[in-house]
Amino acid sequence: MESIQPSKMVQKYVPPLTFLTCTHCGTENSRAFKEDDYVFKKTDEVCPKCGKNEMLIVGIYVKEKEKKA
Ligand SMILES: [Zn+2]
Repeated sequence: MESIQPSKMVQKYVPPLTFLTCTHCGTENSRAFKEDDYVFKKTDEVCPKCGKNEMLIVGIYVKEKEKKA
């Protein structure tokens, strides 16, 4: 008889992703969602490309879990 491990049934928490665009050069960046994030919020995060600390949040997405067809 096969037994199902209860630990495999625990749902994993999937953190949302926040997508940002640099207001200076337009570079897109993404990182893990933070509590105060909302779309079109200006953050003082540093652009990885031009170094300006003004990134605009353009989207917040949660990765959907794989669905069984
Ligand atoms: Zn930039």
